[in-house]
Amino acid sequence: MRVLFATAEVAPHSKAGGLGDVAGSLPAALVALGHEVLVVTPWYGRLASGARPLWIGDVEVPFDGGTATVGVGTLEERGVRLAFVGHPSFARERLYGYEDDAWRFALLSRAVPQVAARVGFRPDVAHAHDWHTGHLPLLLARGWHLPDGFARLPSVFTVHNAQYQGESDMAATLHWLRLPGDLAGSFANHYGRFNALKAGAGFATRVTTVSPSYAEELTRPEYGYGLDGAFRSLEGRLTGILNGIDVEVWDPATDPHVPANYDAVHPNAKAASQVALRERYGLEPGLPVIAAVSRLVEQKGIDLLLAAAPRLLEMGWGLALLGTGEPGLEAAALALAADARGRVGVTIGFDERLSHLFYAGADALAMPSRFEPCGLSQMIAMRYGTLPIVRATGGLRDTVEHMRTGFVFEHATPDGIAWAAAEALAVGPGTDRWRAMQVAAMRQDHSWDASARRYAALYEAAVASVIPSRP
Ligand code: ADP
Repeated sequence: MRVLFATAEVAPHSKAGGLGDVAGSLPAALVALGHEVLVVTPWYGRLASGARPLWIGDVEVPFDGGTATVGVGTLEERGVRLAFVGHPSFARERLYGYEDDAWRFALLSRAVPQVAARVGFRPDVAHAHDWHTGHLPLLLARGWHLPDGFARLPSVFTVHNAQYQGESDMAATLHWLRLPGDLAGSFANHYGRFNALKAGAGFATRVTTVSPSYAEELTRPEYGYGLDGAFRSLEGRLTGILNGIDVEVWDPATDPHVPANYDAVHPNAKAASQVALRERYGLEPGLPVIAAVSRLVEQKGIDLLLAAAPRLLEMGWGLALLGTGEPGLEAAALALAADARGRVGVTIGFDERLSHLFYAGADALAMPSRFEPCGLSQMIAMRYGTLPIVRATGGLRDTVEHMRTGFVFEHATPDGIAWAAAEALAVGPGTDRWRAMQVAAMRQDHSWDASARRYAALYEAAVASVIPSRP
């Protein structure tokens, strides 16, 4: 099977969150199963990996009433081919958060078939991710201005987070995409505006999201962010496939960023990381630590964690937080650290290397998410013998088992967190029971292998359900 991936992030080159991790590791897992994958993604100004793709030339993309010129650079890694799409609008400091994001990612989606054709890749199926490339299933289904072989190509669309939907003016967006005006009344329409996430879900041959629980939650008003009705209407076309983690990158037995390596058979050397994390923040020796490694946004419930913090400290926990996001939450976290020296350590920023020390050096990891499509941090934490304290939602519900591999609470409130933290403390870091839970958590298999097989089966099903167009 030849799979064309379209994504706005791909680790280690560009990453704002879990989407980058998935796009960085699922293709390699598919290649390991014998499939071919081309990943098409923006060539951001400076790739976080420092990689320098090989520039192979310009491609003309039908766009915005005429054509746009994009540059193409390629790389090959672990058997996966990557094509980077260069355009001045991608050469900026951040990945997202600009006024013209809707335009920029419509251009990316429009460029994907042309770029694939330019590098000689003839896919059997396309796999688009989140709103940024939600236009692609629509473009493939409607078949205008596509290179040979791309019209009616089967597609899979994965929703990584339904909160971000890519809304834009309907007429303008159809003009950018060079699609006919009759699509204004199609599934891409959400209350009169173009909605890229809904377009992806509505026009793809198959739709997935990143956990079975989130697939069910999306059909409910509390989680659908206005699209619950749209998701309900997909009926059997929407399924949940759990993400995996990259078990080579996240392996305490080989991790170069922790002071001593360890595994489930010899977990004792985890203690060196615990000492290092406490020393880094001047925390009291021996203090049990709950960590958080997270975007600081409402979704993640970090405000709830900060509200519960005085109670957690009183119980005897220390806290370590690594994150970046909303200025109010950043300031509140720094204020807590200043007030509770020796008990709380905070780093504001995105620091991949430091995150390894957090996962290895903490006793527990808090994820009090209001919603969590899959969540990777809890799986990484378990692999490092750090027990997750999570709210029962989405992928957290599907991956953490209360009192066996972590601690699970129902309500997204400070009380919920405090309850679970008390449960954890009652088990007690360092006790035999805690150690048994650590070993159970470390032995979980969260590698991509099983999920990659599920995606491969889904690609087969998508291909089988579409009758190819004949010239
Ligand atoms: P989301 O994609 O919603 O942000 P996930 O749990 O799926 O949440 O993935 C988050 C990923 O980003 C994990 O690999 C986590 O370690 C990483 N991450 C989040 N914040 C930071 C940070 N401040 N520094 C380093 N890594 C971070």
